[in-house]
Amino acid sequence: MSYHIATQTVHAGREDLTRLGVHAAPIDLSSTYPTPDPALAGASLDALVGGAEHAANPVYARLYNPTVARFEHALAALEGAEQAVAFGSGMAALTAVLLALQERGRHIVAVRPLYGGSDHLLATGLLGTTVSFVDAGEVSESIRPNTALVLIETPANPTLQLVDIADVVRQAGSVPVLVDSTFATPILQRPLEHGAAMVLHSATKFLGGHGDVVAGVVACSAELAGKLRQVRILTGAILHPLGAFLLLRGLATLRLRVLAAEDNAIVLATRLAKHPDVARVHYPGRCRGQQAAIMQRQMSGPGCVLAFELRPGVDADRMLQSLRLITPAVSLGSVDTLIQRPAALTHRVVDPAARAASGVSEGLLRLSVGIEDAEDLWADLKQAIEANGQRMAQAA
Ligand SMILES: *Cc1c(COP(=O)(O)O)cnc(C)c1O
Repeated sequence: MSYHIATQTVHAGREDLTRLGVHAAPIDLSSTYPTPDPALAGASLDALVGGAEHAANPVYARLYNPTVARFEHALAALEGAEQAVAFGSGMAALTAVLLALQERGRHIVAVRPLYGGSDHLLATGLLGTTVSFVDAGEVSESIRPNTALVLIETPANPTLQLVDIADVVRQAGSVPVLVDSTFATPILQRPLEHGAAMVLHSATKFLGGHGDVVAGVVACSAELAGKLRQVRILTGAILHPLGAFLLLRGLATLRLRVLAAEDNAIVLATRLAKHPDVARVHYPGRCRGQQAAIMQRQMSGPGCVLAFELRPGVDADRMLQSLRLITPAVSLGSVDTLIQRPAALTHRVVDPAARAASGVSEGLLRLSVGIEDAEDLWADLKQAIEANGQRMAQAA
């Protein structure tokens, strides 16, 4: 498809609707499908279990669903991928990747920080993998003959650290690189264009965008997608069609939401950085040197998520309790602004020493900026910070 991304967000996955005589995407809730032709049903089942994208007869809803396929087509178009495979959550998507690549080996190289759940899944070795957590510059020396995957997250949850995708791909050589691009969305970053083999989203976040879907998706080559579908069928990690419908609906406004929230995030990052009770702001739009160069190379904007630390003496949890408009909650990427303290919640499961070493301090606050009015958001943040801070201005 040669349309621009603004057109793709609205039209991808809906190309056949006019022919079908409908304007909204139909939701197919069937758990089973009639099989009047046993031979055709058998051949279809063989094809789907073997990883085919679709077959003449869907047979059973764990094997294929047309509403889910619409969302997959749309997301693949946005990422510039051959195909995409959707799952019941971001963690189910990561699980499928780890299982699908086990034929390559069971060693994973991962750059911290990662989303707490991803870190925990790798650290526990639950799926029979062993992990080397390394810095972005140490990937090549960490590759072993049985390394199946290099996993990076950029911008990283929750520190917003950027990882140079093309550089990691070079270091990984023939080992596939998976980029968790949840924070960037395909509006701001398309990892496959920089050589990544797979891009993963917790679709729960920006793709859904309204805080009402839990889902995950991986965009990649047709070959890898086939392996992921095989695992999805075996493990039952499918996405519900209602979730797929909501995701497709969310994609239509993805670009508008991301650009509006990003405008707000730029304002809030600037004002937070100037506030005397704020010690540090982490935001791709404010980074310098090498991090700024990475942003220039692989992102078209700084995004909608930032993190900040309050000065010693200003209690982060008490600040959260003083908010009136912004909701203290985990998750991110919704139309409304959410804030949380990763060390207490999303990254609680990560080893505390590793957490600190990767830049996730105890007091770090992660702010997912929504599309409200920036002045209202700033007024709320400011009053909550000042309600609990010993103002530096007063002390001076
Ligand atoms: C939330 C999140 C995940 C996990 O996704 P779920 O949909 O919650 O399973 C993975 N990676 C990142 C960066 C996330 O923010």
